[in-house]
Amino acid sequence: MTERTNLLGLDLQGLEGFFVELGEKPFRARQLLQWIHKYRIVDFAEMTNLSKVLREKLENVAEIRLPEVMHEHISVDGTRKWIIKLSCGNAIETVYIPEGGRGTLCVSSQVGCALTCTFCSTGQQGFNRNLDAAEIIAQLWIANQALDKDPKGNRVVTNVVMMGMGEPLANYANVITAMNLMRDDFGYGISWRRLTLSTSGMVPMIDKLREDCHVSLAISLHAANDKLRDEIIPLNKKYPIAELLAACKRYVVGQQRRHITVEYVMLEGINDSMTDAKDLVRILKDLPTKINLIPFNPFPGTSYKCSSRNKIVRFQQYLIDQGLVATIRKTRGDDIVAACGQLAGDVQDKTRRTERLAQQEVVFHQ
Ligand code: SAH
Ligand code: SF4
Repeated sequence: MTERTNLLGLDLQGLEGFFVELGEKPFRARQLLQWIHKYRIVDFAEMTNLSKVLREKLENVAEIRLPEVMHEHISVDGTRKWIIKLSCGNAIETVYIPEGGRGTLCVSSQVGCALTCTFCSTGQQGFNRNLDAAEIIAQLWIANQALDKDPKGNRVVTNVVMMGMGEPLANYANVITAMNLMRDDFGYGISWRRLTLSTSGMVPMIDKLREDCHVSLAISLHAANDKLRDEIIPLNKKYPIAELLAACKRYVVGQQRRHITVEYVMLEGINDSMTDAKDLVRILKDLPTKINLIPFNPFPGTSYKCSSRNKIVRFQQYLIDQGLVATIRKTRGDDIVAACGQLAGDVQDKTRRTERLAQQEVVFHQ
């Protein structure tokens, strides 16, 4: 028996193609998008605006298959974390952070990450594989479903950040398909202002993103000079700071209201001196940015420590005094290990890691 197509991971264009191939009208794609993503109906029999004949046809060739939720953890501060089991036996993590009127979902794009940033738990786990588009969008589907079912439930996902496990630009095609679904009015209707992709700096893919999909961009800078950035983010050796910032400038050209979010993790004694702050002001002076200082979140086996609160506040004040916009990220979900950089999931089968890394290298070169 041939495998049935999982419609969960098809965006409007993909679904239109699917229906045309089936000998149906492309407008069916919009109906399907609404059933799957707006109403979260996964049984074709319940899709009442499709004819019985079409529903039966769909049952034979397609399915809407979601991965299984292994655990849901709810923090005292309202943060939630879902551990989602994938068919290959690995698990990924998705985190929901409510704050005021907004609810932000932090979505994973890979099982592990190949980029080995020294301060990141995901990077230290190694890389297993890319998530497919269905596995990426499933995280938003699952979060909305759980929030809807909550009896206290006045919560929804209003914002998405591609800041969970993995480097989203290293899984480009699947991430774009999933973000198309997030933005589509027949899907989740999230505007580009509320959808942010964070990258450690894959320069050629930033340029491609600018062409392909309009979203907000965040970069993980974390160091204001190449010597230090080379050490903590190995990808910097390939795409140094000047090239990364030039790509950011190209990204904002012609988009008057757009700024780049600059993430800067505060590591005690590593990147938190006043010289670092001065260097940061100097290198960011020509770019519209909002700097987000992230207190380092420790994980088992790390020797890094988070800078003291005083030091972080002093660092922030200096940036503000120099005319930059700088905020300190609140650490949330401490009691359920859901903070930035702590997402570890369950990354198995790393035996072929070197080989897989070589494959990723091919992607970086494109
Ligand atoms: N791969 C992408 C997105 C995922 S990481 C990227 O690197 O941008 C999301 C953010 O968490 C990044 O800014 C990352 O540098 C930061 N981060 C990683 N480990 C961290 C830790 N232990 N404490 C605080 N922030 C961390
Ligand atoms: Fe990968 Fe981002 Fe972690 Fe670096 S910080 S290892 S790019 S997930």
